[in-house]
Amino acid sequence: METHSISYEGVTIEYQLIRKNVKYINLRVNKYSQVMVSAAKHVPFSVIEEFVQSKALWIITHLAEVEKIRQTQPSGAMYHGKTLYFLGEPYLLQIQEGQRQISVGAQTIRMSTMQTDSQGLRAEYLDWLRIQAKTIFTELLEEVYPLAQPYGVPFPQMQIRNMRSIWGSCTVEQKSIRLNLQLMKADRDCIRQVILHELAHFCYPNHNKAFYALLTKWMPNWTACKERLETLYKDGV
Ligand SMILES: [Zn+2]
Repeated sequence: METHSISYEGVTIEYQLIRKNVKYINLRVNKYSQVMVSAAKHVPFSVIEEFVQSKALWIITHLAEVEKIRQTQPSGAMYHGKTLYFLGEPYLLQIQEGQRQISVGAQTIRMSTMQTDSQGLRAEYLDWLRIQAKTIFTELLEEVYPLAQPYGVPFPQMQIRNMRSIWGSCTVEQKSIRLNLQLMKADRDCIRQVILHELAHFCYPNHNKAFYALLTKWMPNWTACKERLETLYKDGV
């Protein structure tokens, strides 16, 4: 078995090539997110390479699907080739050795790091994510706050915490809301929904009819956003 790679729109796709007694060329993605290619002995390498290249989009889609299944596991393992959700979009995580830096491309999140174990990688990623979250959450809070202002809701202090079970919470007496860092996986509407939910608690502490009526007034499609949050982005980073 040999390891080879192709490049597709800036994404490096690694594959394992096995020469064996098959008709021509077979390609599959296994449950460990490995791309397995088997080819007959007489097929020239250039033909195999071209074949894999022609399947690049299919491979990326399948890797994302395998990843989705893997992400239903509680482990937040970080590794090269993992699919990471960032503001509602899937990205392939690319890890390379180098000075600490993270950047977001069209389809990839590139992480340059000296960390080698999953925990260290995760800690660096979450540090970076927290910085992004501060900007994004502040922007969205400022954007939706004018809806709540006429109801006497004070502009709250915002805290960001990496939490397991809740998307947000609020402390009315301290005029503060707390948002889960994990919300950064979700699209902006999902984040707006959580912020508005917390702001509505400044008017109604309980989840009664009046509370939901107010939330619906502020964001008519809030249930769809809530559903996306609970189904698509429930797994931990
Ligand atoms: Zn609530």
